[in-house]
Amino acid sequence: MTIATHERYAQMLDAARRGGYAYPAINVTSTQTLNAALQGFAEAESDGIIQVSVGGAAYLSGQSVKDRVVGSLALASFAHEVAAHYPNITVALHTDHCAKQYLDEWVRPLLRHEIDEVAHGQEPTFQSHMWDGSTVPLDENLDIAEELLEQSVKAHTILEIEIGAVGGEEDGHSAEIDEKLYSTPADGVKVAQRLGLGERGLYMAAFTFGNVHGAYKPGIVQLRPGLLGDIQHEVAAAVRDGRVPSMPRAFADSWQGAGSAVCGGAVGVGAVAGVGIGSGIGSGGGTVGIDSAAGSVGAVADSSAVLPSFGRGEAAEAAAEKPFALVFHGGSGSRPEEIAEAVSHGVVKMNVDTDTQYAFTRAVAGHMFEHYAGVLKIDGEVGEKRFYDPRSWGREAESSMAARIVEACQRLGSAGKALK
Ligand SMILES: [Zn+2]
Repeated sequence: MTIATHERYAQMLDAARRGGYAYPAINVTSTQTLNAALQGFAEAESDGIIQVSVGGAAYLSGQSVKDRVVGSLALASFAHEVAAHYPNITVALHTDHCAKQYLDEWVRPLLRHEIDEVAHGQEPTFQSHMWDGSTVPLDENLDIAEELLEQSVKAHTILEIEIGAVGGEEDGHSAEIDEKLYSTPADGVKVAQRLGLGERGLYMAAFTFGNVHGAYKPGIVQLRPGLLGDIQHEVAAAVRDGRVPSMPRAFADSWQGAGSAVCGGAVGVGAVAGVGIGSGIGSGGGTVGIDSAAGSVGAVADSSAVLPSFGRGEAAEAAAEKPFALVFHGGSGSRPEEIAEAVSHGVVKMNVDTDTQYAFTRAVAGHMFEHYAGVLKIDGEVGEKRFYDPRSWGREAESSMAARIVEACQRLGSAGKALK
């Protein structure tokens, strides 16, 4: 197993939520950084997520071409080839922050491409896509999320949404450091009411809790990871008292019901509400109740034959306790205890970009300073090919970045837990 199938990805995310760990999601902008990511995950014996940003996708297509779809598909093709040589780990491919102005030229065409792949019996090229609606009002954010979630179901992909706005600067885009840094439990309830909790399609949610992109010295912003716990508790309570007419489900269980729920969303939701209120959270019976409400008991039984049956009951219980699979952005400079607390509240994906960028470039800088007389042609000399061959500094840079990824896997608890 190398690039995740959609079912395998669901299992990965369930395993993380159930096991209380998270996957590093590593931004890559080249085949060098992609190979470094694979090297790092393999060394850590961790599954993981590899992602391209809006700027990275354009850059990957060639700086004079600047076509985000071309760059994304090219990187993914390369990844599918090389990842096949890491049989002991699974990686999912993801597209990072897509703001509203890029949807039509990037994520929507990719989703159409993947819907076509699925229609032809293939796996989608990417396994998930992020819609970043943090710059539009919450209602509009969720309107667009609803539409994209429907497309994601057809594309066999998982959607990532952002609620609130991560501050700071990333990829040339900057956001204010203001009250949108902190989303609220009420936002969480609204998201669950509008998007369901898996029965209308699978999504991960980046609720902000003081996150800022980029490198900051400690103390500039106040991370409040406890807010993620408050959001999870409030939504779980809202499920129990019927304000949220859905039952949180394990990701692997949701693939089966999602298609039928999309066809008749309103009907499905009403039916689920009736059952959901009466059945106990985390009883394990809740899952059956939901699926029978959606009329897909048979489908679930079938899915057991297709999917390994590892920990499905536990995964459903974890989902009841932590209804959202959460994403942590802007974690550079966070203290290990802050990261651990966020992960304990259901973070399953943590984006890592700034720190791996630095690890890569730091090694290049070290090489250049150490071997400057070889990489440069000084005083009529000819330099030394073995020092300016891009592979010589490239290998050092990749190994340095891979080591930083191993560290991320250890901190997030995914090291040594690659699914067999
Ligand atoms: Zn981010």
